[in-house]
Amino acid sequence: MQINAPKIGFVSLGCPKNLVDSERIITKLKTDGYEIAADYSHADLVVVNTCGFLNSAIEESLEAIGEALDENGKVLVTGCLGKKSEMILEKYPNVLGISGPQDYENLVKAVHENLPIEHHAFTSLIPAQGIKLTPRHYAYLKISEGCNNSCTFCIIPDIRGKLNSRKIDDVMLEAKRLVNAGVKELLVISQDTSAYGVDIKYAEAQWNNQVYQSRFIDLAEALSTLGVWVRMHYVYPYPHVDKVIPLMAEGKITPYLDIPFQHASARILKLMKRPANATNTLEAIKRWRTICPDLTIRSTFIIGFPGETEEDFTELLNFLKEAELDRVGCFTYSEVEGAKANSFPNLVSKELKQERLERFMVIQSRISARRLKRHIGTTQKVIIDEIRTDENIALARTQYDAPEVDGVVIIENINSHNGSIAKGLFVNVTITDANEHDLFAKLHNH
Ligand code: SF4
Repeated sequence: MQINAPKIGFVSLGCPKNLVDSERIITKLKTDGYEIAADYSHADLVVVNTCGFLNSAIEESLEAIGEALDENGKVLVTGCLGKKSEMILEKYPNVLGISGPQDYENLVKAVHENLPIEHHAFTSLIPAQGIKLTPRHYAYLKISEGCNNSCTFCIIPDIRGKLNSRKIDDVMLEAKRLVNAGVKELLVISQDTSAYGVDIKYAEAQWNNQVYQSRFIDLAEALSTLGVWVRMHYVYPYPHVDKVIPLMAEGKITPYLDIPFQHASARILKLMKRPANATNTLEAIKRWRTICPDLTIRSTFIIGFPGETEEDFTELLNFLKEAELDRVGCFTYSEVEGAKANSFPNLVSKELKQERLERFMVIQSRISARRLKRHIGTTQKVIIDEIRTDENIALARTQYDAPEVDGVVIIENINSHNGSIAKGLFVNVTITDANEHDLFAKLHNH
């Protein structure tokens, strides 16, 4: 079965800055699950990223909008000419929406409104609420499309096809461009990050006068040269993941692993057909923490998969207690249209799923709180995501927390620092307190 993802046509006009904007928008749309169409006829909607600098550029932009409307009909306009919306609307009253330069957020919102995409709780690479594009200091770096696994609750391989990895030089070029544009934290994503490069036989390529293979460890090595935080998401615990832990211990990449375990009972993992289900995960976690005591592990779990018995669930709770994961997301199982598991017997009732979820969360929140408490009294380098002068606080993150999904560091009393802090800056703080989700801190004098 092949289910098609919605396709966006993209026309990018103007200067290199506009091109960087286009790349960021395309990265974001792909991350959300859209595909980019090669031409108007294969697109479900077209975005025209315009330029309005010179009269000739305005004319070119207006022509491009007209052409997109003729060829496709569904058009969103963004970019510099977006500032002159009256001019566009006078000529083309039927465009679906207009947004200005670097107004990524409204453009992406308009794409979602005009061409909705289904969100799958267990497999989406980003949270249901979507990701904000406004912070310019972090960016998602997608290293491959598709997936070679066939988890029974998932239809991603049907929608996106088999694993299709980008060559390492291509990934590094994008990473470098993002860093040059001011990005200070790269979030590496794909459906199965540790499988990166298998499909292209770990193709070799040159980047920065060095030969790298298109494989997980080489990618981590290459990204570590960029001098920014590098965060690995959607890593499955295949044995070769061990190799990346020393890089984390040496501070070359962020000591953070996002591993969607989904369950701990071998029987349920087998029913789910999860990759790496035979790996002894607890042993791996212990090994990693011995090498890199600072390692933060984030994971997600599905509760109430068809056939989950009380025994399986107890096994999961015991795993939680022993693994002491730092951050955990948890969903009750629900059917995804087209997934194999939909025909599985022994469904778990809604009430029982809910009851198990609550039991799970009680245990995990105690663990998360305990894990966070160990930071109290320490000095941490944090990146500032948001400043709220009216509340006299700033929201920041340590290297142990990913944006959007994990907790934050609440820096108090920022107004006494005379505006010396800004969004996207790294600053040093002392952690003063913690609850089960967030940390509190005071700023060091700079
Ligand atoms: S690893 Fe499994 S859950 Fe993830 S995309 Fe592939 S098939 Fe889906």
